Amino acid sequence: MITRSELSVQSRAQISTQTISDFGCWQTQLAGAITSPEQLLAMLQLSPGLLSPALKACQEFPLRVPHAYIQRMVPGNPDDPLLRQVLPVGEECQHIEGYGLDPLAEQSQNPTDGVIHKYHGRLLLIVGGACAVNCRFCFRRHFPYQDNRLDRDSWHNAIEYIRSDTSIKEVILSGGDPLANNDRRLANIAAELNAIDHVATLRIHTRLPVVIPDRVTDELINWFARQRLQPVMVIHANHANEIDDRVREAMFRLKQAGVTLLNQAVLLKGVNDSASALIQLGEALFKAGVLPYYLHLLDPVHGAAHFDVPDVTATRLIQEVMAHCPGYLVPRLVREIPGRPGKTWIL
Ligand code: SF4
Repeated sequence: MITRSELSVQSRAQISTQTISDFGCWQTQLAGAITSPEQLLAMLQLSPGLLSPALKACQEFPLRVPHAYIQRMVPGNPDDPLLRQVLPVGEECQHIEGYGLDPLAEQSQNPTDGVIHKYHGRLLLIVGGACAVNCRFCFRRHFPYQDNRLDRDSWHNAIEYIRSDTSIKEVILSGGDPLANNDRRLANIAAELNAIDHVATLRIHTRLPVVIPDRVTDELINWFARQRLQPVMVIHANHANEIDDRVREAMFRLKQAGVTLLNQAVLLKGVNDSASALIQLGEALFKAGVLPYYLHLLDPVHGAAHFDVPDVTATRLIQEVMAHCPGYLVPRLVREIPGRPGKTWIL
């Protein structure tokens, strides 16, 4: 077992074998995630006054957060940037004009169950609705996953759709969190995609290696190493405190398996809306072998308006980051506008 202090001084070349944390295997951690606001507040020694609004907000979108993520929060701090991403709050219940249930109009770009085809040359496969953590700002917090299950028939239809459109060079596994599927199911999905000649890249958008780093199993690493498809993983970290030694270890193992590692963050009020927070995030990512890729402006989803950062502030923050960092540590500031064939670059 590698201790965390030992790990911080190891070179990436030395990190080649999996370690299992004190929390058990990743499935155990997934099943044992905290779903009770009362329990979370007690664990973090926070005011019981936060409970009533949390319970109300949970009726629309439940709390879900694993122990490995809670461990990185500071007890007694209601403004902890990791806590703010997961704790349900009263503002979520307010109806704000311009904020809706399907902010990116994905349900009109859904040619067959489990497929979202909104970008040129690439499409998303919704390979499940489960997540390790329920992020309060998630633009899919109201997504009808029950109508997009990839059962045997819909999976066949999805594969035929990809096979029949030779413009599709890249398939993006999305969700939910695609890594909430077990390694065998992922291998089966990849095997079918491998057999389609015009698909060259397999991208996985996931938050699981950040919130439960033990998800990066030996089996997953071996699976990546065997791919014909070029593997890309886009993780989702919003604050430097999310990237601890366990996450770094997971990232180094993925990199050794040939996976291109990128990060997309969301600009969130009270979480990362300062130049220093964004600079620290970029540096922490780079130390883990991950390049900052996108910084998203918030998608206007009902329940998340309190996270919004105005465009003018966002632009100023990125300019400050540009003044302090090399270009490769400056994420592209983007917004997703429904109907456009890609992200819209703001800066
Ligand atoms: S892990 Fe991703 S899909 Fe799941 S709730 Fe968070 S942002 Fe949404």
